Amino acid sequence: ASSFAHVKQAPEDAILGVTVAYNKDPSPVKVNLGVGAYRTEEGKPLVLNVVRKAEEQLLADRARNKEYLGITGIPQFNKLSAELILGRDSPAIAQGRVITAQCLSGTGSLRVGGEFLATHYSGPKVIYVPSPTWGNHLKIFPLAGLETRTYRYYNPKTRGLDYEGMIEDLRAAPNGAVVLLHACAHNPTGVDLTQEEWEGLRKVIRNDKQQLPFFDSAYQGFASGSLDTDAFAVRRFVNDGGETFIAQSYAKNMGLYGERVGALSIVVRDPSVAARVESQLKLVIRPMYSSPPTYGAAIVSTILSNPALYDEWKVELKAMADRIISMRHQLFDALKARKTPGDWTHILNQIGMFTFTGLNKQQVEYMTKEYHIYMTMDGRISMAGLSSRTVPQLADAIHSAVV
Ligand code: PMP
Repeated sequence: ASSFAHVKQAPEDAILGVTVAYNKDPSPVKVNLGVGAYRTEEGKPLVLNVVRKAEEQLLADRARNKEYLGITGIPQFNKLSAELILGRDSPAIAQGRVITAQCLSGTGSLRVGGEFLATHYSGPKVIYVPSPTWGNHLKIFPLAGLETRTYRYYNPKTRGLDYEGMIEDLRAAPNGAVVLLHACAHNPTGVDLTQEEWEGLRKVIRNDKQQLPFFDSAYQGFASGSLDTDAFAVRRFVNDGGETFIAQSYAKNMGLYGERVGALSIVVRDPSVAARVESQLKLVIRPMYSSPPTYGAAIVSTILSNPALYDEWKVELKAMADRIISMRHQLFDALKARKTPGDWTHILNQIGMFTFTGLNKQQVEYMTKEYHIYMTMDGRISMAGLSSRTVPQLADAIHSAVV
């Protein structure tokens, strides 16, 4: 008998499982709104034109080889990534207070940052994540060695932010606790803080509680169409001189999903600790995967270091963001035209890749069964997976699910 005969069948991942179910459906009209990946109007995955150009340059460069990178990846990539999120004129960078390591996309950056904190943080080894949050947060941080608790974030009644609940919970959390914040385009709710709310939150975290913000930046540029606007919260925290962790992903904003390219930046208060922190960060990474892969980071470096490509990237990024925003308007208008009961203004107000529709599990199951529309059970739909062609089908489905 196998030594693994006792192993139980694991459930499908709540998000990736949607695609598994979608793939099994033979219907020609099926629509996958589960996965958080951009699709064109034609419903196809998109490789950005600048990415193609960067790949051509890399391919033409016969001096490139396949040697191992250092433990923290491509130095130029790290510098450019820090500048992208913090701003080129960031005082923290100029003062040598930022340590950046190329990691395996956003997930890997969170995991490495979490484990570094579990090993070296002098404060409580507890991380607070919003409720709800991207489901993987709840799995990444405990495995990294941090106790994981939640703070209130979303108010289902208003389909908006529970700002008072959030502040109350963080005030009640231990001094010095780590606080996970979505830098922009909160997943799954699409609900973000206003600039005033960010400032109020910052004062609580910095002044009242001496807590440590850990930003998850998976959608820079993808939410508003502007790289700077979407970095507002991160820069506000970093520019007050306090310590900050940031996990960046290039999955969405450069469409490099499967290349697994991202970065962890640790901003410290005192430049004299930076080199020691970096040395210990390497000891976290080395036994995990030794060093990151070259290809995706080489693409990113090529684009970010070339002004013409950088500008072209911004245009393509804005086009993706704009298409998503236009899907919000089309869906809202389609529900209005059908006189679907309920207030659907949250479709317009929420930001980023997802709309948290407010539909419940039964309604989602109904829409999947009757309309072949696939989405996560919490009622989250990927606006990036929608097109002018599929909006009427989705509106019909929602209408018939709620009446
Ligand atoms: N954080 C959030 C909030 C996300 O939505 C995602 C992607 N779904 C990630 C992190 C990480 O994604 P990746 O590892 O593909 O960069």
